[in-house]
Amino acid sequence: APPPSLTICLLQKCSHCQEVGATLGCYCKGCSLSYHYVCAVQAGCFLNEENLSIKCPKHKHRTLKVIITDQSERG
Ligand SMILES: [Zn+2]
Ligand SMILES: [Zn+2]
Repeated sequence: APPPSLTICLLQKCSHCQEVGATLGCYCKGCSLSYHYVCAVQAGCFLNEENLSIKCPKHKHRTLKVIITDQSERG
Protein backbone atom coordinates (compact mmCIF):
# COMPACT_ATOMS: atom_id res chain seq x y z
CA ALA A 1 0.00 0.00 0.00
CA PRO A 2 1.22 3.51 -0.73
CA PRO A 3 2.21 5.72 2.19
CA PRO A 4 -0.64 7.79 3.69
CA SER A 5 0.75 11.05 2.41
CA LEU A 6 0.70 9.79 -1.17
CA THR A 7 -2.80 8.42 -0.74
CA ILE A 8 -4.02 11.76 0.50
CA CYS A 9 -2.40 13.43 -2.46
CA LEU A 10 -4.06 11.08 -4.93
CA LEU A 11 -7.42 11.59 -3.28
CA GLN A 12 -7.07 15.35 -3.21
CA LYS A 13 -9.96 16.84 -5.11
CA CYS A 14 -9.35 19.44 -7.71
CA SER A 15 -11.02 22.73 -6.90
CA HIS A 16 -11.66 23.35 -10.58
CA CYS A 17 -12.94 20.09 -12.07
CA GLN A 18 -13.78 18.31 -8.80
CA GLU A 19 -11.87 15.21 -9.90
CA VAL A 20 -9.35 13.55 -7.60
CA GLY A 21 -5.62 13.56 -8.18
CA ALA A 22 -4.97 17.24 -7.75
CA THR A 23 -1.30 17.52 -6.93
CA LEU A 24 -0.84 21.27 -6.94
CA GLY A 25 -1.96 22.97 -3.77
CA CYS A 26 -2.20 26.68 -3.18
CA TYR A 27 1.03 27.97 -1.73
CA CYS A 28 -0.84 30.13 0.71
CA LYS A 29 -0.85 28.62 4.18
CA GLY A 30 -4.32 27.76 5.34
CA CYS A 31 -5.70 27.55 1.81
CA SER A 32 -6.96 24.10 0.94
CA LEU A 33 -7.52 24.65 -2.77
CA SER A 34 -5.77 22.15 -5.01
CA TYR A 35 -5.62 21.79 -8.77
CA HIS A 36 -4.37 19.65 -11.60
CA TYR A 37 -1.74 21.43 -13.60
CA VAL A 38 -4.06 22.04 -16.55
CA CYS A 39 -6.89 23.07 -14.25
CA ALA A 40 -4.65 25.54 -12.46
CA VAL A 41 -3.94 27.14 -15.81
CA GLN A 42 -7.60 27.19 -16.79
CA ALA A 43 -8.65 28.57 -13.43
CA GLY A 44 -6.20 31.42 -13.75
CA CYS A 45 -3.91 30.39 -10.94
CA PHE A 46 -0.47 31.88 -10.56
CA LEU A 47 2.05 29.21 -11.51
CA ASN A 48 5.54 29.29 -10.07
CA GLU A 49 7.53 26.89 -12.19
CA GLU A 50 10.66 27.34 -10.11
CA ASN A 51 9.34 25.44 -7.13
CA LEU A 52 6.27 23.92 -8.78
CA SER A 53 3.87 25.76 -6.55
CA ILE A 54 0.70 27.61 -7.38
CA LYS A 55 -1.42 30.32 -5.92
CA CYS A 56 -5.14 30.13 -6.39
CA PRO A 57 -7.00 33.04 -7.99
CA LYS A 58 -7.93 34.27 -4.54
CA HIS A 59 -4.38 34.56 -3.36
CA LYS A 60 -2.33 35.28 -6.45
CA HIS A 61 -2.99 38.96 -6.12
CA ARG A 62 -1.27 38.95 -2.77
CA THR A 63 1.96 37.68 -4.22
CA LEU A 64 3.63 41.04 -4.14
CA LYS A 65 2.16 42.27 -0.91
CA VAL A 66 4.60 44.74 0.50
CA ILE A 67 4.90 45.66 4.10
CA ILE A 68 4.86 49.40 4.15
CA THR A 69 6.83 50.82 7.01
CA ASP A 70 6.83 54.42 7.95
CA GLN A 71 10.48 55.24 7.57
CA SER A 72 9.96 58.86 6.65
CA GLU A 73 12.34 61.14 8.40
CA ARG A 74 11.03 63.84 10.61
CA GLY A 75 12.60 67.25 10.60
ZN1 LIG B 1 -8.79 19.42 -12.22
ZN1 LIG C 1 -5.30 30.03 -2.10
